[in-house]
Amino acid sequence: MKRVFNFSAGPAMLPEEVLKEAASEMLDYQGSGMSVMEMSHRSKEFVAIYENAEKLVREVMNVPDNYKVLFLQGGASTQFAMIPANLMKKGGKVDVINTGAWTKKAVKEIGFFGNANVVASSEDDTFTYIPKDVKLSGDADYVYLASNNTIYGTRYVNFPKTGNVPLVADMSSNIMSEPVNVSDFGLIFAGAQKNLGPAGVTLVIVREDLVGNHIDGTPTMLQYKTHVDASSMFNTPPTYAIYVLGKVLNWIKSKGGIQGVYENNLKKANLLYNFLDESKMFKGTAKKEDRSLMNVPFVTGDADLDAKFIKEATAQDLTTLKGHRSVGGMRASIYNAMPYEGVEKLVNFMKEFEKANS
Ligand SMILES: *Cc1c(COP(=O)(O)O)cnc(C)c1O
Repeated sequence: MKRVFNFSAGPAMLPEEVLKEAASEMLDYQGSGMSVMEMSHRSKEFVAIYENAEKLVREVMNVPDNYKVLFLQGGASTQFAMIPANLMKKGGKVDVINTGAWTKKAVKEIGFFGNANVVASSEDDTFTYIPKDVKLSGDADYVYLASNNTIYGTRYVNFPKTGNVPLVADMSSNIMSEPVNVSDFGLIFAGAQKNLGPAGVTLVIVREDLVGNHIDGTPTMLQYKTHVDASSMFNTPPTYAIYVLGKVLNWIKSKGGIQGVYENNLKKANLLYNFLDESKMFKGTAKKEDRSLMNVPFVTGDADLDAKFIKEATAQDLTTLKGHRSVGGMRASIYNAMPYEGVEKLVNFMKEFEKANS
């Protein structure tokens, strides 16, 4: 068997311990005689798996009691529409900070419900930075941003203060990678496939008072209230994905919780960024002060050299390093589950490559 260091932006690497545990329970989950995939979502075994996953989200992220934790389907992309349907007044306004492709998609969906008021954007410089000192309208239904920009490799180090206006954050690509204060947000959401587990489940953490105010005509499945009232079991939830997510959360706990994982993430990111800063061949594309700890885009400036690098890296089992088409070059996604050794191997290979090709 071989395992590569997979730098995919998502779905991405999972902790090997988690995969092994899931494999060992594949045919017979704890004496039930069946796989979790084959189980009724109403069975006592699955209800326990579900309740444990919710408990772990609350524990690991320190979620206050006045927040609901939901496991939904439809990916982060469904939240782009579900959030305005539930948090916006009919024909209302949302202040959006536009920092990349994912916030642009959210803007489009908000536009179906009301005014997507883009209060700041870094599009003028290919989204290489996070706009600072943003002037908010003050009377929006909520303020919307993406905490980490998967494609452009930027992240918020400090979030804007929004006062009484709820702050909504798409944390799909950096949830649980560094500490955040949940009570600073009205709603947090994340597709699981980058930092939390397999594709198919979307974590939503929403403040209680924001539930139940959906716009008339919102389909049942798109009302948060439906899922709150039924504890995310209104219909069949993504059972296997929730089961693996629970294991990932246990793994985070075993690493010292989010603080422990964060310290490791800093070490990994610093190793790679320090090399990028001293390299004459490779260059990071994001502004230093806004650099992501999870997604690191970099270029050589020469498309042929980029292609050669990607090909030779793949031969070394350093895979999926091709950059997003809108940035070009390379992108190393180094989520929680990427071991330090993976980044070390990448940096060593980059050094060798630079020597051999300059
Ligand atoms: C990947 C990603 C999405 C899209 O997630 P889906 O689950 O595929 O809909 C949205 N936002 C961000 C920041 C992402 O990284």
